[in-house]
Amino acid sequence: MDTRRERMITTKWGEFMIIVMQEKATPQDVEDVVNRVKKFGYTPKLMEGEFRTVIAALGDGRDKAQLQALESLHHVESVMPILKPYKLCSREVRRENTVIDVNGVKIGGNTLVVMAGPCSVEGLDQLMQTAKACKAAGAQILRGGAFKPRTSPYSFQGMEEEGLKLLRTVSDETGMPIVTEVMNPREVDLVHQYTDIMQIGARNVQNFSLLKEVGRLTKPILLKRGLSTTIEEWLMSAEYILSEGNNKVILCERGIRTFEKATRNTLDLSAVPVAKDLTHLPVIVDPSHGVGYWQWVASMSKAAVAAGADGLMIEVHWKPEEAFSDGPQSLKPEKFAALMVELKKVAAAVGREL
Ligand code: PEP
Ligand code: MN
Repeated sequence: MDTRRERMITTKWGEFMIIVMQEKATPQDVEDVVNRVKKFGYTPKLMEGEFRTVIAALGDGRDKAQLQALESLHHVESVMPILKPYKLCSREVRRENTVIDVNGVKIGGNTLVVMAGPCSVEGLDQLMQTAKACKAAGAQILRGGAFKPRTSPYSFQGMEEEGLKLLRTVSDETGMPIVTEVMNPREVDLVHQYTDIMQIGARNVQNFSLLKEVGRLTKPILLKRGLSTTIEEWLMSAEYILSEGNNKVILCERGIRTFEKATRNTLDLSAVPVAKDLTHLPVIVDPSHGVGYWQWVASMSKAAVAAGADGLMIEVHWKPEEAFSDGPQSLKPEKFAALMVELKKVAAAVGREL
């Protein structure tokens, strides 16, 4: 069955079963089940965990009884339907946390990961100085936008490819992996050439063509929650990426739109424990876009770590008053460094490292 037809069938009926292998199952046992699943007309997707392998069987629901009967095999522990609408990103499919390795930086493990840097890439000096300060304070990953999703077409739109080149130069010099936004399926190839993590912004969380496009890559994807997407819709967007074959998705809560105007958005920290329960994917928090004012970024960063986030994305600018975008919510390097000291204590209090 070709993948196009496979997808049509699974979207039409969406039948998913998971086959949990016994802990002692051998690779031959797994292969045996994979072959049987194929024989019944289902598509197997392997999810290898630390202790056991799980095979997700995607199909149209026919011969479900045969699939269920696989439970009688000695190397199969259980066969059950996946009840949640999101499947591959669900904890039902994979109980262990997914840990994503970005050039040696592990996201989703016990050590918290802090991504810091300016909202927009504005020039070499600005990026280099900010990156060095963030790294010295303990940030592991450099953020910076080269393609900017602005509300107004008259606002600064980003340095585009020139900005990507600067990010690469600074990454090579500092050794920090980078995360930058891709806004358009047409620019996926270009951004892919330069970055270590592809960011999908809040406004594009339901741009399904873009999600499918990045789903075909092997590079990690940072998926922001949309301004008004429910947690379930956000996970369905992650599912788009996983269903195309890319399991390396990092979720990022960045605030949702509510009636409250004192903050730019309402940072939904309850999304952290909820998402961590529902999915095995890492969940990080962006308090900068969440609150919109630098004064409140530190409190919400600490609260995010206490709530169980796997990391943070924080905007830092060497001269926030001159920033091309998001100056009011950007921390100066010295404020960021002071926050990192505080964060270490909160991390220790909840059994994490930083
Ligand atoms: C950003 O990270 O600079 C950004 C535009 O974020 P969001 O998509 O969450 O608004
Ligand atoms: Mn920003």
